[in-house]
Amino acid sequence: MSNTAARCDAPAAGREPTIHQRGQHEVFCGLTSIIWLHRKMQDAFFLIVGSRTCAHLMQSAAGVMIFAEPRFATAIIEERDLSGMADLHDELDAVVERLLKRRPDIKMLVLVGSCPSEVIKLDLSRAAERLNREHAPDRRVIAYSGSGIETTFTQGEDSFLATLVDECPVAEADAAPSLVVAGSLADVVEDQFSRIFQALGIENVAFLPTRRSDRLPAIGPNTRFLLAQPFLNEAAKKLERRGATHIPALFPLGEEGTTAWLKAASDAFGVDPARFEAVTAPGRERARKALESYAETLSGKRIFFFPDSQLEPALARFLSREAGMGLTEIGSPYLHRRHLAAELDLLPEDVVLSEGQDVERQIDRCHEADPDLIVCGLGLANPFEAEGYATKWSIELVFTPIQGYEQAGDLAELFARPLRRRAALKVEV
Ligand code: SF4
Repeated sequence: MSNTAARCDAPAAGREPTIHQRGQHEVFCGLTSIIWLHRKMQDAFFLIVGSRTCAHLMQSAAGVMIFAEPRFATAIIEERDLSGMADLHDELDAVVERLLKRRPDIKMLVLVGSCPSEVIKLDLSRAAERLNREHAPDRRVIAYSGSGIETTFTQGEDSFLATLVDECPVAEADAAPSLVVAGSLADVVEDQFSRIFQALGIENVAFLPTRRSDRLPAIGPNTRFLLAQPFLNEAAKKLERRGATHIPALFPLGEEGTTAWLKAASDAFGVDPARFEAVTAPGRERARKALESYAETLSGKRIFFFPDSQLEPALARFLSREAGMGLTEIGSPYLHRRHLAAELDLLPEDVVLSEGQDVERQIDRCHEADPDLIVCGLGLANPFEAEGYATKWSIELVFTPIQGYEQAGDLAELFARPLRRRAALKVEV
């Protein structure tokens, strides 16, 4: 049982109240984001300083996804370490020394803090500074925190990117205008967007995180940035502190979201509307065609979102407007009102938005809503499946390439598959 408090905002005109809850969470911690970050930055290595629990989480989360020598590991804090902090710094130095000797391909070493390292107040930023002095300029050592039972797994990426922004060179006030796309995207998606920006005539485009640690973009007052992911609160603040300007937009999910996202960048860089139309028309057409084939499976089905990734409002907007799904409750761990303003504006007025989590109460609300599909974490999926509900693991939506025109159909497929599977099971029974 959880000790919880719930409150409802006074309803805004025409919209159901947002439910704020603080209670028991059913989410992974920020370490999980290393699973996709280590594949993104190809010369970085993530060294988690944590316990056996952290190592087990990473092993089970990574599962079958490790094919080659991994680019992350856990330096285990043993019980005996808890009493001797001085030794712990020495041990960490020794682990790093051995690792860097064995892996000359590592150009950026990322020390990742965990609950155990924070409980014993092991200052990893200081350790990173010390190790940096030793290993620069060949290797860079940085640190961020991936811990937290009160956070969500995508916040790990936010913390990492915020730290990375500190490492970016400073762009002078008279530097040429540049665009930074912040938020991990699959390489294939990044390449597609690069080609579109190029066709639009937008120059000096960089994606953060970069694929290589020595290619970090310079950031300054002439930098504008687009968010590719909705969970980058801290990273966005750091970019703004460097003088960069946020380009508000929908997130690039589905035909509508991708078009609006690209249009926001195009307008910010003064791209001629006719050129925008010509460049994006074929992609829009392909995305619309791909989505047509999912109408039968998705249209009219009702979906319920538990709060996991912070992608929920953007996914809900896509599913309701482009796939015809009915929305019951959209739960999100945190709603960044400014970054999500365009998304929230497009949601149906009667949808229930909930922020934070109180899992027991939310399970009750889910039963009451009786949706056709539930988007939730792994811990909730199995019990719901056993009750006869179709579920979708929210973490899959972060691992899979879903942004952009070419992926609009794949995104719909992720929601159609569990519905088809459930329908097939019903026939067999
Ligand atoms: S919640 Fe804390 S202890 Fe558990 S895996 Fe994450 S960092 Fe480690």
